[in-house]
Amino acid sequence: MSKFFPDMYQKSIYDIDYKKLKHSGIKCILFDLDNTCVPFHENEGNDSLKKLFNKLTKMKFKVIIFSNSPERRLKKFSNLRVEYNSSSKKPLSRSFYKILNKYNFKKEEVCIIGDQLFTDIYGGNKVGIRTCLVEPITDVDFFLTRFSRIFENRLFKKFEKKGMLKKGKYYD
Ligand SMILES: [Mg+2]
Repeated sequence: MSKFFPDMYQKSIYDIDYKKLKHSGIKCILFDLDNTCVPFHENEGNDSLKKLFNKLTKMKFKVIIFSNSPERRLKKFSNLRVEYNSSSKKPLSRSFYKILNKYNFKKEEVCIIGDQLFTDIYGGNKVGIRTCLVEPITDVDFFLTRFSRIFENRLFKKFEKKGMLKKGKYYD
């Protein structure tokens, strides 16, 4: 069960202390796209997201959109001017290792930020990179995600019972 437990938990990608992340040795941030950066029905990057990615790039983070969505969707986010990895098949490890090997990052230097325990957090923990859970932007999900949310909510409640996670009780 601990493989589903995030190292960090924040309200949104805009609430993360990126300076702290930097100081703790993180060099590369993998961003889940849907419901982490944009609502899943949105088809381009908005200004706040663009600003954030600009700031992070200036801070010398390698920023990569790391999504299970296909290339044809991710192409629409080229206005954000960051790299993307499409069809990542999270929680499978392959795409995570692809990034680690391509840029020669150590596991301790990479962080994934996402809204799903079963894909983003579990996938990241399995590989051994840092994981950060954020609240989903909307409660509207891709239809397959709707099913996993049911189980995810159950898992979240289990964590809550054990005093490990609490909705709205953020930590980093
Ligand atoms: Mg997501």
